[in-house]
Amino acid sequence: MVTIPYPNVLLDALEIGVMVIDESFEIRYWNQWLEINTAHPASEMIGKNLHDFYPQIDYKVFARKIRTTLRLASPTFYDASLQNRFIEIPRTKITTSLLINMQLQVTISPYIVEEGLVMVSIYDISDLHELKLTLQSQMEKISELNCELHRDKMIIDANLLITKIDEECRIVEATQAFLEFFGYKKESVIGEYLSQVFGDVSVDFDTIQICDAIARQQKWSGEVKAVLANGEEVWFDTVVTPLNDDENGTLSYTVIFHDISDKKRIELLSITDPLTKLFNRHKFNEVFENMIRRRHWDENHTFGLIIADVDHFKRVNDTYGHQSGDKVLIEVAHVFSQTIRTGDILARWGGEEFVCLLPDVDMEKALYVAEKLRLAVEELHFADAGTITSSFGVSIFTPGDTQESMIHRADSSLYRAKENGRNRVECI
Ligand code: GH3
Ligand code: MG
Ligand code: MG
Repeated sequence: MVTIPYPNVLLDALEIGVMVIDESFEIRYWNQWLEINTAHPASEMIGKNLHDFYPQIDYKVFARKIRTTLRLASPTFYDASLQNRFIEIPRTKITTSLLINMQLQVTISPYIVEEGLVMVSIYDISDLHELKLTLQSQMEKISELNCELHRDKMIIDANLLITKIDEECRIVEATQAFLEFFGYKKESVIGEYLSQVFGDVSVDFDTIQICDAIARQQKWSGEVKAVLANGEEVWFDTVVTPLNDDENGTLSYTVIFHDISDKKRIELLSITDPLTKLFNRHKFNEVFENMIRRRHWDENHTFGLIIADVDHFKRVNDTYGHQSGDKVLIEVAHVFSQTIRTGDILARWGGEEFVCLLPDVDMEKALYVAEKLRLAVEELHFADAGTITSSFGVSIFTPGDTQESMIHRADSSLYRAKENGRNRVECI
């Protein structure tokens, strides 16, 4: 029997296990790595049969590999996986994984020094194996996340009204829910300006606010109005959020819409006079209060108040009926709203009385507006009631004024207009 010189300094220095065996698995050499890691000293192993120590090895497969190696004079691999176990070497390295025994790679190569012998090299590939396992589990997690993401994306696409727009307010993407809600096909929306899709009502005001926020690259939220493909007007609570698009360094924005039309309808009902559709007294008081508050910190900001009252309106009702009276009120409200400027606030005060707030006017201008309103009513012609007239009282904000004091002056002026023969404008 030939034994490999023991100890063999060269093979002992290797960081892998090396044994030399013959075709019947008799051990001829057992290096230091194996001694340390299997706790079997070479003196115990050399001359013995591997089978006596490691019966779990599939010796049929192992023998076939050895024969192939010798016949072809080239290395073969023994698959040391779970099915074809090899020698079991416990791991001493502390790791977080559950791998208790080393994962081995086993190579059988011809032992060139003597025929009929093979050198079995054993590599500890546990770290690599662990890496593979971690990678695998991460890939599984990624795939799970991907599935979840895909599912979330589908839910969002089907239920939320979202568009992505570019820096010029052009639509880049839109959810299915958005397209269905607005009643457009994807092709007719992508590439269009948001204002075009929103319809004319929004061009002046609402989408400009969104585009302003985008020009400043800022987040924005607020209420906007849009027109659907079927002509219906809808109010949205809208949130615009900048998105960093790393791919080409440009910014895009997500715009999320939440339909608040019902809320808006109720809100509108609560501030509207049902007959004339003007603001009601409640809304008027609110605006009036704001104007007075603003006047307290802005010395240059003055404003006027007009109270209008239809003359002898009781007669219209008594002579032509309540319905004819209603028609007169609707028509007077209409001409009043046609005559004032945008920014003036017109409301029905009650009965046949109307009130109007005129921002940034002095007494002269306020009297001029009241006179215009008086003429407008005078020029109306009703099928049954014929012509009617109205009287006006005007007051201008002066420091120290309250709603009550301004109304009191305008009302006293109105009383004077009535006393002086009606169809007149008066002020104190
Ligand atoms: P004056 O020139 O002094 O203002 O006389 P007037 O008849 O206009 O004033 P008065 O206060 O005596 O009458 C107002 C009438 O307006 C009485 C009321 O029945 C009527 N009125 C109030 N609200 C409505 C309404 O919503 N519809 C109709 N048709 N009439 C209303
Ligand atoms: Mg009256
Ligand atoms: Mg009256």
